[in-house]
Amino acid sequence: MTTTGGFQPVFCTIVPPHVLDRLARNEDPALSGPARRSLEHDAYQRTKRRLTTVIGAAIAAPPAGAAADKPHRTVYDAGHTQDLPGTKVREEGSEPGSDATVNRAYAGLGATFELYLKVYGRHSIDDGGMPLDATVHFGENYDNAFWNGEQMVFGDGDNEIFLDFTIPVDVIGHELTHGVTQHTANLEYYGQSGALNESVSDVFGSLIKQYTLGQTAAEADWLIGAGLLAPRVTGTALRSMKAPGTAYDDDVLGKDPQPAKMEDYVRTGRDNGGVHINSGIPNHAFYLAATALGGYAWEKAGQIWYDVLTGGELKDDALFADFATLTVKAARERYGAGDELQAVQKAWEQVGVRTL
Ligand SMILES: [Zn+2]
Repeated sequence: MTTTGGFQPVFCTIVPPHVLDRLARNEDPALSGPARRSLEHDAYQRTKRRLTTVIGAAIAAPPAGAAADKPHRTVYDAGHTQDLPGTKVREEGSEPGSDATVNRAYAGLGATFELYLKVYGRHSIDDGGMPLDATVHFGENYDNAFWNGEQMVFGDGDNEIFLDFTIPVDVIGHELTHGVTQHTANLEYYGQSGALNESVSDVFGSLIKQYTLGQTAAEADWLIGAGLLAPRVTGTALRSMKAPGTAYDDDVLGKDPQPAKMEDYVRTGRDNGGVHINSGIPNHAFYLAATALGGYAWEKAGQIWYDVLTGGELKDDALFADFATLTVKAARERYGAGDELQAVQKAWEQVGVRTL
């Protein structure tokens, strides 16, 4: 299904605001400065995005005559400014240059395109061959990466807490998947539907990493953003799908606040109603289903989740129980009343989400 208009403004960052808020309050200006500036950048981009959408942004169209089974990647360098898209530094088919950040962004866009095409038969983000644009070296010590509804943007990190945001391929996959969601179920970015939007990005972000590395569900680390935290941070990643709430526990960053079960659902007005927090619950359900099924997670569990995202029945304001019920239906429709159905039902049961 392809949507060409009418979708809501999207501005999705990989690092949630509660993490940057805490950093911004740190006494050490080397930590608080970059965090504060990153929050200001995010607020500015969010407002700008809203205005652009109201005015009516042009939707990027694939180049005429373009082969839809090949990506169309362009990487830009913002040169540490906030100007988008910046200077074009690499385009489709060109050789790698000397900037590792540019090359990682290019490879990550390609890995995302490949999983969606080869596994799910999807032609880019919009299923219509949409070009994949990314800007690197955005801002000064910018502590985030985001999808602004049209393109990917990566900061270099402050090197105290966060390193270069192009390092984890799942972060690239996560952000681009916000584009896929925007063009399909278009889950509202608030409350449970917002947490589902976040979770879908973590699921496919992790699957892109697993697919790239050729890992089975048992071999995968199920972490989001592994390699992103600087060595001084006590933690392994931004989030863990295997064990939500355990990704970090650090004197500066605080403790990973993600719940794994519905009984620990966090009610908050911050972070759009805790979209980056409560996503731990559907994330863990996916992990449980995928590991119960074994083999490559993108094959069966991923297919079931993809069927729900793109099937047209998922409402934009869906609750966890609505999503869970549709995964059970999708499992039955695709695989019959076998192990797949049982694994999916049991996974939701284990995280305390009822399926109808
Ligand atoms: Zn996100």
